Amino acid sequence: MLVNSSVDEVKRREAALRVIKSTIKEKGRNGLYDLTGLSGGFPLVEGDIRLLETYAGSAIFEDAIQVVGRIHLGGDKILALNRTSSGILAAILALVKEGDEIVHYLPKHPAHPSIPRSAELVGASYREFDDINDFEVGENTSLVFITGSTMDHEIIDKNDFLKVIKISKSRNVPVFVDDASGARLRTVIYKQPRAMDMGADMAITSTDKLMDGPRGGLMAGKADIMDLVKSKAQQFGLEAQSPLVAGMVRAFENFSPEKILEALSKKHEVCNALKKDIKSVKETPTGVMLSSNDLKLELENRGITTRFSALDLSDTLAMLFLRKQNIITIPAVGMPGASPTIRIDLASQDAGRIGVDLIVDMFKETFSEFESIAADEKVCRAVLYA
Ligand SMILES: *Cc1c(COP(=O)(O)O)cnc(C)c1O
Repeated sequence: MLVNSSVDEVKRREAALRVIKSTIKEKGRNGLYDLTGLSGGFPLVEGDIRLLETYAGSAIFEDAIQVVGRIHLGGDKILALNRTSSGILAAILALVKEGDEIVHYLPKHPAHPSIPRSAELVGASYREFDDINDFEVGENTSLVFITGSTMDHEIIDKNDFLKVIKISKSRNVPVFVDDASGARLRTVIYKQPRAMDMGADMAITSTDKLMDGPRGGLMAGKADIMDLVKSKAQQFGLEAQSPLVAGMVRAFENFSPEKILEALSKKHEVCNALKKDIKSVKETPTGVMLSSNDLKLELENRGITTRFSALDLSDTLAMLFLRKQNIITIPAVGMPGASPTIRIDLASQDAGRIGVDLIVDMFKETFSEFESIAADEKVCRAVLYA
């Protein structure tokens, strides 16, 4: 196998960052096409930088984030965090103790790894459901999670969401919605209400997913519960510092759903063009994707047999996209445990810059090159780690 551990994933990511650095050096930032849909933008305005001090910045931007955060997420109180994962950890530290249980409903497995990992850290048991008919809250359940939109952008059904809320309320267990991309995908594309307006006690979103903010987590919730979570977050250094909060504030001020809606209208075209060659390509709410399992099947259907796992194959294909076309997708640059799905997000800034036809051509070209190397361990290793 090619990718056997979290350490291998870190090495793959380091190799990807080396390629990105040399591309920027040779061709400048415009030589690179970040199609992950994770923007990491930092749209500060004149005068912000002078305020990015520990206390002056906190006073100004923590106040401002309360206003824009409540508009985006609802709820009484807002907390900005280093990442969505940090907010998930803070909530679990605050509300779950050893021996408790966490249950999680999501439209499709797998969950983001930060939820089961944080459960394990506090010594809680963890159960995950992706069939609403199986969902239940146990005797020892102290926190319920709902994922609004999965890492692969599977969107929860609104009635299932409401059913989980109802069951959890009847047992007096608080509900925390992981709405990392869902806070925008569910509301803009699927016209669902905000999580807090559907009865959640807390919700969190990633400020760089489908919006042009820095990587960070923005959490909203009911006042009493947020006081507990905020205190834990600050005890363990999980809260965002003022430079990050400033970037978030400006990104929310700029947010408009238009780019997401434009991507929605272009994705059919891209998907249909790709499907002629690569049958397993599927649509996402704002683009196209090829899951690692579908990639493995696609190769098998073409008579290419390898000993490699689905993860090996998707990481290799992602690294090939990067090396050959300077296209960044998550399986090349993701942290250990990130989704191995190759996803092209048409709502990303760079997708607008290259245009639909070129994206299709680059995808097909890279895929056919991948086919020719997919059985060759030595070549695949070099693509992954060199
Ligand atoms: C991206 C994502 C996260 C984690 O966000 P980070 O900012 O990387 O911590 C958690 N849950 C879901 C569903 C996600 O898509």
